[in-house]
Amino acid sequence: ETETIYCIGCGAEIQTQRPGELGYTPQSALDKGLESGEVYCQRCFRLRHYNEIQPVALTDDDFLRLLNELGQKDALIVNVVDIFDFNGSIIPGLHRFVGNNPVLLVGNKVDILPKSLKRGKMTQWMRERAHEVGLRPVDVLLTSAKKPQEMTELLEAIEKYRDGRDVYVVGVTNVGKSTLINQIIKQTAGVQDLITTSRFPGTTLDKIEIPLEDGHFLIDTPGIIHREQMAHYLGAQDLKIIAPQKEVKPKVYQLNPEQTLFLGGLARFDFIKGERSSFVTYVSNDVEIHRTKLANADAFYEKHVGGLLQPPRPDEVKDFPPLQRFEFSIKEKTDIVFAGLGWITITVPCVIAGWAPKGVSVLTRKALI
Ligand code: GDP
Repeated sequence: ETETIYCIGCGAEIQTQRPGELGYTPQSALDKGLESGEVYCQRCFRLRHYNEIQPVALTDDDFLRLLNELGQKDALIVNVVDIFDFNGSIIPGLHRFVGNNPVLLVGNKVDILPKSLKRGKMTQWMRERAHEVGLRPVDVLLTSAKKPQEMTELLEAIEKYRDGRDVYVVGVTNVGKSTLINQIIKQTAGVQDLITTSRFPGTTLDKIEIPLEDGHFLIDTPGIIHREQMAHYLGAQDLKIIAPQKEVKPKVYQLNPEQTLFLGGLARFDFIKGERSSFVTYVSNDVEIHRTKLANADAFYEKHVGGLLQPPRPDEVKDFPPLQRFEFSIKEKTDIVFAGLGWITITVPCVIAGWAPKGVSVLTRKALI
């Protein structure tokens, strides 16, 4: 029988089976820790030794508790979203939880936006989408956690809107919140300055507080997992392929009705009915796109998934969820979005279908570009 072990940093129950979840520590590190009598989870270990925040996710209940606490503070709420996966970044009901606190909406990963999309247009689009879900941000801005020079505007906006108060940074997982926090630490604080303090009530996680000049703090909060993101069905190597690292280059396809595009082996787009026209794909440049006849598409996928159509890689095919089909009737310029992978812009009225691995959402939205 094994004894339950707790992280001496954050109090989470230590486990060695589920990387990325609370209390995870590799077995080898656990063995070493037991020898020395000091067991840290991987997250606390990295925080102590490398001054590096690792992404962590909460359960839905814990996340709701955290959100509830936000409403009781007098603070600026910074909501980080991934502009490449806006729908997957939404925190349902955030506007109800923040109380009277102002929300600064920050679109991260601006470095991968196609140049053809103007910043003003993007922030305006984000503001409209936020309003649709009831969120009224005091300001909307774009940044890139990977570009130090993109930090200036963000830090200035935070100073302006926090108005002498604390700052809470919230976001779902994968939006790049940890990378952003690490970038902020680099620019504003030192290793010694970081403080981990008392837990959010009911959650098993400590807050990470970055001191600001006037004695207030910028506080990193854990994220929540949006299960319908493609990222949760792929291995680390595949993630590198689908997560754009560089500016996304749009690709234009002239399609006749009854033609199909495959986005690697991850998603499929059927042009079912309508006039011949152009369709523009916005996915990571490393995802290969293949065109087939709709009539042959099932057989083509069956034959080539894991081969010509990658990811998934050959050894992943047997565990990869089957593609699920969603049909849409399009009336105006529309994007069909494959959660976490990218989107295709449609310019003419037509009937289409989008396919994604079972569990991953496919939806349409007013065209971004
Ligand atoms: P978190 O779960 O929100 O904390 O997200 P992470 O900080 O772990 O980032 C998720 C993924 O997005 C990682 O692969 C990062 O390298 C990537 N990422 C984060 N910020 C940026 C950015 O500004 N630009 C690009 N291109 N990728 C980013």
